[in-house]
Amino acid sequence: MTNPPPAPVLTEFLDALLAGRLEVVDLTTPLSSATPALRLPAPFANLIDFGLEEVSAYNEPGPFWRHNNIHTGEHIGTHLDAPVHWITGRDGDDVSQIPVRRLIGSAAVLDLTAQVAADPDYLLTVADVEAWEDRHGRLTTGTWLLLRTGWEVRGGSEAEFLNTDDTGSHTPGVAVECARWLATERDITGLGVETVGVDAGLAGGFDPAFPVHHYFLGNDKYGLTSLRNLGRLPATGAMLVVSPLPIVGGTGSPSRVLAVTGAAA
Ligand code: MN
Repeated sequence: MTNPPPAPVLTEFLDALLAGRLEVVDLTTPLSSATPALRLPAPFANLIDFGLEEVSAYNEPGPFWRHNNIHTGEHIGTHLDAPVHWITGRDGDDVSQIPVRRLIGSAAVLDLTAQVAADPDYLLTVADVEAWEDRHGRLTTGTWLLLRTGWEVRGGSEAEFLNTDDTGSHTPGVAVECARWLATERDITGLGVETVGVDAGLAGGFDPAFPVHHYFLGNDKYGLTSLRNLGRLPATGAMLVVSPLPIVGGTGSPSRVLAVTGAAA
């Protein structure tokens, strides 16, 4: 077995990074016990929040070192949904089985900030995506479609982030037909959102329920949630790097999500 040849494109990429012609944007929500999480209504069971437990801190249990245990649900903070998370994807990949090639791809950013400011329950439509494609070109193979909604500004308060009242959680998402169309008519890798889950807050009442989960995970596509800083990305041309932990049997994982873009002049 011989080593692969050098790839000039990588040399060029790394030179551009070093010279500041490329910028790395962190799309990840910081992970702490205060990170907003989904709260399912009874009788459904909820995950535990993220927790950090000190084991030693340069003291008797570990005089020269500090280390912690982490306690967390899989679907906490910025995280990836793997196909097996949903019943429609139950025979698909768990998070450790996802082909790593698919964790790097192009980012397509669709801006719904104005629509969501007027209506927190706004649902992305096929017409919205087609209008985006008319301006920026067809969604290509391996693309992550990222929905910019402005929701990230609510991330400091779980109450504002979940926006729940007597009628449910009012957060934006994707209409049923659009979820089906994106999952079956476009060869994208997944959908990324700023909200706590890839489906709208009221999507439990849709038919099918939670259509993004239903169609995306059932069609070997992925979800990404609680993204930030999408406003720092161009509509097209950024590269996304998604890094879930390879939890064997895992249905998802908190993930660091990085975007590489051209540097602002
Ligand atoms: Mn999830």
